[in-house]
Amino acid sequence: MADKRDYYEVLGVSKGATPDEIKKAYRQLAKKYHPDLNPDNKEAEEKFKEANEAYEILSDADKKEKYDRFGFAGVDPSYGAGQGGYGGGFGGFGDGMEFDLGDLFGSFFGGFGGGSSRSNPRAPRRGSDIQASVHITFEEAAKGCTKKATFQRIEACDECGGSGAAKGTQPQTCPDCNGRGQVNVQQRTPFGTISTSKTCQRCGGKGTFNPTPCSRCKGNGRIRKNISKDVTIPAGIADGQAITVRGEGNHGLNNGPAGDLHVRVAVKPHPFFERDGYNVWYDMRVSYIQATLGDKLRVPTLDGDVEYDLPAGTQPGDVFKLKARGIPVPNTSRRGDQLVRIIVDVPRNLNETQKAALLHFNETLGKNPVKPEEKRGFFGGKKKR
Ligand SMILES: [Zn+2]
Ligand SMILES: [Zn+2]
Repeated sequence: MADKRDYYEVLGVSKGATPDEIKKAYRQLAKKYHPDLNPDNKEAEEKFKEANEAYEILSDADKKEKYDRFGFAGVDPSYGAGQGGYGGGFGGFGDGMEFDLGDLFGSFFGGFGGGSSRSNPRAPRRGSDIQASVHITFEEAAKGCTKKATFQRIEACDECGGSGAAKGTQPQTCPDCNGRGQVNVQQRTPFGTISTSKTCQRCGGKGTFNPTPCSRCKGNGRIRKNISKDVTIPAGIADGQAITVRGEGNHGLNNGPAGDLHVRVAVKPHPFFERDGYNVWYDMRVSYIQATLGDKLRVPTLDGDVEYDLPAGTQPGDVFKLKARGIPVPNTSRRGDQLVRIIVDVPRNLNETQKAALLHFNETLGKNPVKPEEKRGFFGGKKKR
């Protein structure tokens, strides 16, 4: 059975169509494909039913809104559960109970478009995926860590084991549909009455119902549980990346497999390290004297302080590299580098003695001493990266 067509597509209108436009489009299709005008034409019959179904939803503000938000699952509990050959069926949109069921299905199977699984309400169905998120520090991202992700998951009710029937009772064959899950209805259209099948309202297409529903899950057989799950986050993960944990999503129906858990990782910025791919930038402040004469520096890295011999005559903005002190590259033994940018602190508020000493030093430079009025900009030209 082909995938169900979008209702707007069926009527050939845009999402922003007015009620009048929707009505007009439906009337044209209904005229074109009406069974009386197309006897023994299976294709026209299907098209007619399709148009009727689309119109039922799009002409009703409430149903239209549910459809816009949740798609078919928002308006038809039999979606994904309807029997092949019924063309999706008419009706089945009668009351609030069914919408609740539809929303429930929507949350189980939202976004999951398995083809073969939409034929039988009792067929195994994969649970939908769950999105969760964790926040980690810069260091945790660099080194890898284990974090607890907390989220809600739909599981079989542990009170009734998923049957939806209260303890000591059994689900019974639905008397309305005799366990078929579908009932025949006479559908009145502007062009006469036609007979069609629709999902049984009493049992929601399951073919069984619970005379005494489980109090915990209200007969749904499923409940939302708060889950706290340890997630292993590999070293080198970047802000915004996600970890997928197979089989930790919403549980399946009818022994179908569970969906997956996707954990989005948000990495907090570091106060002084800055990530650039797998490299880490660090701004190292040194004094004018250290830059001029050179010095043994202690430079913070992700592995703690390391020593570095700052050469004499280091210029402001010079960058030196600490190899393999950066972020690990996932699935390799490699690491990025730490890049250290030299920031030279120019002395301020010198006293008279210090000024005299500097001027004296300036004179020792001989032929081209720096004139005091030129010192502005002397250390300019700091280049970023
Ligand atoms: Zn239960
Ligand atoms: Zn039934």
